[in-house]
Amino acid sequence: MTESYEGNWASQASYSDLFFKLLDPAFLIDGESLKILEINDAAEKILGGSAEELREQSIERWIPEAERADFALQVRVTMRRYHPRLHEISIQCADGRTRLYRCDLCQLQTQDVNKHRSVLQIIAHDITAQREAEQNAQKYLSELQTALSDLKAANEKLESMSVTDEMTGIHNFRYLKQRLEIEHRRAIRFKRPYAILFLDVDHFKHYNDRNGHPAGDALLRGLAQLLKKSSRETDCVARYGGEEFVILAPETNEQQGSEFAERLRKIITSAGFENGEHQPLGCISVSIGVACYPESAPSAEDTLKAADEALYHSKKSGRNRVTRYSKPHPAES
Ligand code: GH3
Ligand code: MG
Ligand code: MG
Repeated sequence: MTESYEGNWASQASYSDLFFKLLDPAFLIDGESLKILEINDAAEKILGGSAEELREQSIERWIPEAERADFALQVRVTMRRYHPRLHEISIQCADGRTRLYRCDLCQLQTQDVNKHRSVLQIIAHDITAQREAEQNAQKYLSELQTALSDLKAANEKLESMSVTDEMTGIHNFRYLKQRLEIEHRRAIRFKRPYAILFLDVDHFKHYNDRNGHPAGDALLRGLAQLLKKSSRETDCVARYGGEEFVILAPETNEQQGSEFAERLRKIITSAGFENGEHQPLGCISVSIGVACYPESAPSAEDTLKAADEALYHSKKSGRNRVTRYSKPHPAES
């Protein structure tokens, strides 16, 4: 027959057996003076001496100075409240390294001779490697985040470069074509009009020849900014190439598109661009062709072509003017 015990098994086990067999360093210290009362083998190893040698020495000797006040406070709170607490403590070990321990602080009841002593048990679990790994992971994470945000910024720059005309800073024709595709689908879906304006600087070669290429560049930049400033936010102003510009104006019919073009033409002739007075027409001017969906053509591509044709007509008929595209007479086509 097996003997059975119905009481508390833990109270039957030997505390000192447990204390000395613990693999983690364990300490019994005086809760008031912080002097060592007992240490186990693992603790002897990290403190670098036997229990006999180290007894009655303050545990603070192995704690870095900066952490001592906090440690003393944690001990006081543990002793006052009687509840076990977890606290991280650095210990300057015998091998010269300072290691980080997660310590279980716990006041012990003693049935002892030395009743005036309040005993604190500390079981220290080495978390140095775990903390280093966490810090490294944190470091890699923040490096990764920096790299990702650099990459994002580089991508945004690349994206913006791919839709921007480098010299004038306004959109390039590639971007306008993308916007035109979207606008055309929207116009079909909601049965709305849009206008395309094709602009070409008059006698620009003359301007370059007379004032130099850099002055020609500066004029193109000034014109680009003026066109942008004089258009709606919802319009797309782009450099087609050379001294030619295209404007896509959503929600604009043929009549409104022609009025817009005429307004731009006048703004440019009266802008007072440098050396304009030496141009064949006495000022810097542009010729403009206007076409509109759906009045001019059924597709985006043909509407663009129609605006170009209308521009050609403006050039042929004397420059510095606006031509609205008109469909060829059935007999002509
Ligand atoms: P038109 O009134 O018939 O349009 O005459 P134009 O002189 O403006 O046209 P043409 O096509 O004969 O000449 C255009 C000139 O624009 C030729 C070219 O060297 C110049 N050009 C093209 N791109 C640039 C540029 O980026 N900067 C400068 N400064 N000149 C450019
Ligand atoms: Mg041209
Ligand atoms: Mg020109």
